[in-house]
Order: sequence, then structure tokens, then C-alpha cells
Amino acid sequence: METNTIEISNKLIGPGHFQVIAGPCTIDSKESLTEIGSHLQTMGVSFLRGGAYKLRTSSHSFRGLGDIAVKHMKSVCDATGMISVSECIDVNRVDFMAEHINILLVGTRSMYNVPLLEKLGSISNPVILKRGMCATIDEWLQAAQYIVEAGNPNVILCERGIRTFETATRNTLDLSAIPVIKEVSSFPVIVDPSHSTGDRRYVKAMTWAAVAAGADGIMLETHIRPDDSLCDAKQTISIHDLEEIVYPISRIRELLFKEIQLEIFR
Ligand code: PEP
Ligand code: MN
Repeated sequence: METNTIEISNKLIGPGHFQVIAGPCTIDSKESLTEIGSHLQTMGVSFLRGGAYKLRTSSHSFRGLGDIAVKHMKSVCDATGMISVSECIDVNRVDFMAEHINILLVGTRSMYNVPLLEKLGSISNPVILKRGMCATIDEWLQAAQYIVEAGNPNVILCERGIRTFETATRNTLDLSAIPVIKEVSSFPVIVDPSHSTGDRRYVKAMTWAAVAAGADGIMLETHIRPDDSLCDAKQTISIHDLEEIVYPISRIRELLFKEIQLEIFR
């Protein structure tokens, strides 16, 4: 099926419009978000991610700075013109986040939260819907349908790895989801090599593999000082690593998708 193109501010995500989303797992301060935002801009990355509310496995882990972090994200993106991406975990925070954040993210743990999905259908901001870690592709597509049927067609799917018997990586990245989704639905699909591998050493290989498999974008947890990340430090890459990973993407796409791109622009 033909893949939709999603428009946000003056940027597009979809066929022929591959986007890189980068930034910390969790926003730790306005200063560090500003610092990373300016590095990303220099590289030509215009989508900034950062979590304000974290659904942590342990109640003793850091759960994000909350509302103030959403405001930090807005002020950094207002100042730089970047597009903000942040996770919404609560049906009662959707309106507040829709006012402050360009693209709302639904994390793997919330894919089955039907009231949240339906509420996200009442706004017009694009929504990135991550695959539930134990969800089949079909269940994931049905979750997306709740948002669309409630009135918001601007859904982007994000493959972030699924639970398997393998323990060498945090999850198993299911790259076959990309061609399957392209076959059966119109949603753009991006890939998160950070949460799928759980290890910064594997992020480069899986990013390039995702590009080759036809992903419409990539989301990478990135920090100025990765080891100081308040959450998911092990899988977080540096700006230097990000540059090395992002640089060849346009070449890979050119080599593999020349015909597809010609078809799109014909
Ligand atoms: C995230 O992207 O911030 C996140 C928590 O990822 P996931 O829901 O895929 O674990
Ligand atoms: Mn994370």
C-alpha cells in the first residue's frame, strides 16, 4: 500500500522524507537539552526527543521530571525551531502535552491503553505509536486504528523490539515488521535501535539495517555525556557516534531506493 506522509510544522515524515529523531531518554535539565539541541541542529537533525514521564519497571527508579520537563522541551524547541517528541503516559495529560509538544509518543507499555489511544484521536498532533513488546504486528495495527477512528489519522508506527527467548540484546528488533507494515497498511514506520538492542555497541548496525529494510525514520537515544544519562545510559550514544551513524544514511538510501524515489517523484 502507499505510505502516508505526515506533516509537522514545515517538516515531512514518509516516503522520500526520512527523518532522524535524537535526544536523551529522559530530560535531565533545560541546560543539557539546549546543549544537545544545538549539536543536533548543526548536524541537520531537526527532531528532538526527550522523556518527561517515565514508566519505569522499578518504583525506585527515576521517573522523570514531569510537567517542568515538558515546558523545557517547548522552550528549547521554540528557540531553535526543532520539532519536539515526547511520551504521553496519561490520558489526563494529553491536552497539556498537545499544547507543548509537536509529536506525542506512546511507549511500548501503553500500546494497550485504549482510553489513552482514543484520547490521542481527539488531537491533531502526530502520534508515534510504539509496538507493545509482546504485541503481534496485527495487534499493533489494531491499536493504531483506535487513534485513527477517534479522529487523528497522523499516526507513525515505531518498531522498538519485541520480547523473545534471546537475552544477548534487551529485545529482539523485528525488522521484518517494516516490509509487512508497508504491505498491509499506510502508516509510516520508524525504528528505535536503542530500546531494541539496549546496548550502544549494536545501535549502528541495527540503524543501517533498518534503513536498508525501508524504514521512514530512526529514533536514537543520544546524550552529550551518555554515561551521565539518568535513564538507559547503556544504550545511549554520543553526538560523535550519532554523526558517524547518520552520515551514510542518505548514501544507503540512494543506493537502495533510487528506483523507489524516482517512482515517488514521477
Ligand atoms: C522511550 O522511547 O522513551 C521509551 C520508554 O521506549 P519504550 O516505550 O519503547 O520502552
Ligand atoms: Mn529510554
